[in-house]
Amino acid sequence: MKNLKVSLIGNPNVGKTTLFNRLCGVNQKTGNYPGVTVDKKSGKFKHLDYQIEVTDLPGFDSIYPKSLDEELVVNFLKNNSGTDKINKVVFIADGTNIKKNLYLLSQIKDLGYDIVLAINMIDIAKRKGILIDTEYLSKEFGIHVVSISARKGDGIDELKSALLLDSPAPKSEEHRYLKPENRKILQDYVEKIGAKNSYQTFLSITQDNALPEVSVKKWKSEEAILRYQYVREILANGIKIDKSLANDVTSKLDNVLMHKVWGYLIFVGVLLVIFQSVFSLASYPMGWIEQFFSWFQGSVQSVLSPGSFTSFITEGLIPGLEGVIIFVPQIVILFFFFALLDESGYMNRIIFLMDRVMQKVGMSGKSVVPLISSFACAVPAIMATRTIENKRERLITIMVAPLLTCSARLPVYTILIGLLVPDTKVLGFVSVQALILLAMYLLGVITSAIAALVFKFIIKNKYRSFFITEMPRYLLPSMKNVVFTIWENTKAFVWNAGKIIVAASIILYVLGTNGGERFKNSEEYVLAEYPSLTEDEQSTKISSYELEHSYLGMMGKSIEPAIEPLGYDWKVGIALISSIAAREVFVGTMSIIYSIDSEEDLSIMQKLEKETNSNTGKPTFNFATCISLLLFYAFSLQCMSTIAVTYKETKSFKWTSIQFVYMTALAYIVSFIAYQLLS
Ligand code: GDP
Repeated sequence: MKNLKVSLIGNPNVGKTTLFNRLCGVNQKTGNYPGVTVDKKSGKFKHLDYQIEVTDLPGFDSIYPKSLDEELVVNFLKNNSGTDKINKVVFIADGTNIKKNLYLLSQIKDLGYDIVLAINMIDIAKRKGILIDTEYLSKEFGIHVVSISARKGDGIDELKSALLLDSPAPKSEEHRYLKPENRKILQDYVEKIGAKNSYQTFLSITQDNALPEVSVKKWKSEEAILRYQYVREILANGIKIDKSLANDVTSKLDNVLMHKVWGYLIFVGVLLVIFQSVFSLASYPMGWIEQFFSWFQGSVQSVLSPGSFTSFITEGLIPGLEGVIIFVPQIVILFFFFALLDESGYMNRIIFLMDRVMQKVGMSGKSVVPLISSFACAVPAIMATRTIENKRERLITIMVAPLLTCSARLPVYTILIGLLVPDTKVLGFVSVQALILLAMYLLGVITSAIAALVFKFIIKNKYRSFFITEMPRYLLPSMKNVVFTIWENTKAFVWNAGKIIVAASIILYVLGTNGGERFKNSEEYVLAEYPSLTEDEQSTKISSYELEHSYLGMMGKSIEPAIEPLGYDWKVGIALISSIAAREVFVGTMSIIYSIDSEEDLSIMQKLEKETNSNTGKPTFNFATCISLLLFYAFSLQCMSTIAVTYKETKSFKWTSIQFVYMTALAYIVSFIAYQLLS
């Protein structure tokens, strides 16, 4: 009886344990690796005249270890010697998701191991219509390849027999994981130290810094890029997906949802449903919140004695808080849908669908997740770009992320769209306001694509990156996770926006209720100028005269010449200045300015509708101004948190300034053109 020692190796969850049990049955034992707590499983079985000893190594993802388990496997593979020396490796791959597996396989192969590739889960792969050309893979890698189902027991005898065969010769002697000039450096070093295996030497250079003059980072990324390229080529030739053969639920759904035409149409449809809901469903709770606050304001007013403290609470703080809370329903609905998309597995399809498009504008599928988070807030989005390894793609993603419609713009858009068009429906159920909101979201998407394209030409490309994504099965979303996502995001919005808005309301209130000589003597000035007004008209006139001559009014006035061509007067100017801190402050500011300004008890919307432009005498919020403001808020970077996080992530004053300047300039120019054309 001859002896053979083999090890089972593979990424986690490929079915290694199942195969091990299938091969060894009850003939297995668990021991310890010396010095560590990781279990060492081994077993044996007989095949023909061979006694085969099997060790089952922990699943691992990378030859660059990140955990104890991984370190153990990597050390085991690097030091294969002594009585434990293995003769063969059974590399197990998941036939339904083979890309990542082949990358690791090619590394183990380069370490000089004699490998049999067992492609597992072939039962599921067949149902998905995945056709794997095992003969081609065998020739390319120079290894035997068998398809198996560890769970059902298919192909196990073929696997056992393959273990006893000599491996075929590989197509090329060595996979080239370095560019020629670096390959030469490596080869010289291998000869100098008399090493047996050049990939092993490569690892001692990149992991243990054995050759200090080499840039480890550069060599590692060169390996990643060239290896993915190699795996991609092999996949393109060796694996085909015949959708017509697929008959499981996920594949059937994917046939439609990932379709070249239907896929995109359904995606747009899904977006439309989301935005329609944000608008229509949210309007009920928003009404209740509004009622609550006006009741609350009234009660506070009747309880507290009149004076500047009371008016600060009722005209400064309460409207400011209302400006935050009122948008909670919309944010809850938005994140409800985002969580559903994510949990169900559809989000990954969106990423995949969009990859081709993203590549065209200098980003990759990996940019999609940060960009989608950008619909909530650019701050976490910019932080999330850390997962993009390619520097250029990452920088482009950071530069364009704030153009996408974040939740802070939603309040501003809602108010402006409400002023722009009445709440009418087309086709009986599609709200015109929802359509305009959708158009604003699309505008953000399109502009960010164009901006990305521009940056693609400005920023030099050093590396190509490869996008490999996994397609999880479709799942019913877990309500617990959905609720958690909604809660986390709503809390973050209320807290972050709340802090700024409360602070801004206090500052605005103080600036709006103090002023110079004209402010202090406003009553005399008004009476002298308009002697024949009724008492009611007088008091309104006085309040607006006061506002105009308060410190706040002076600030608005000072930027008025710059913003007049965009259709704004000094009051809008005040809102623009205060929303440099954060966009959502716009609504709060508006409501504070108009509370200071008028005595009447109207909703923000009604006050804005009544407002006249002090320069033209026409309604301030007419069609042209609303469009101009909508565009201004779509493009300008009015968010200190974004500026701060861009600086933190790029560590570059230059790129932070470029982002601020290009967005502000874009906002100004587009709003200018729009206003001039429309008015
Ligand atoms: P390990 O993490 O690599 O040890 O993977 P396991 O052996 O624990 O298997 C992971 C999952 O895949 C388990 O739910 C197995 O039942 C399942 N599995 C393993 N092999 C097959 C197979 O050939 N076909 C199918 N359908 N499922 C399998």
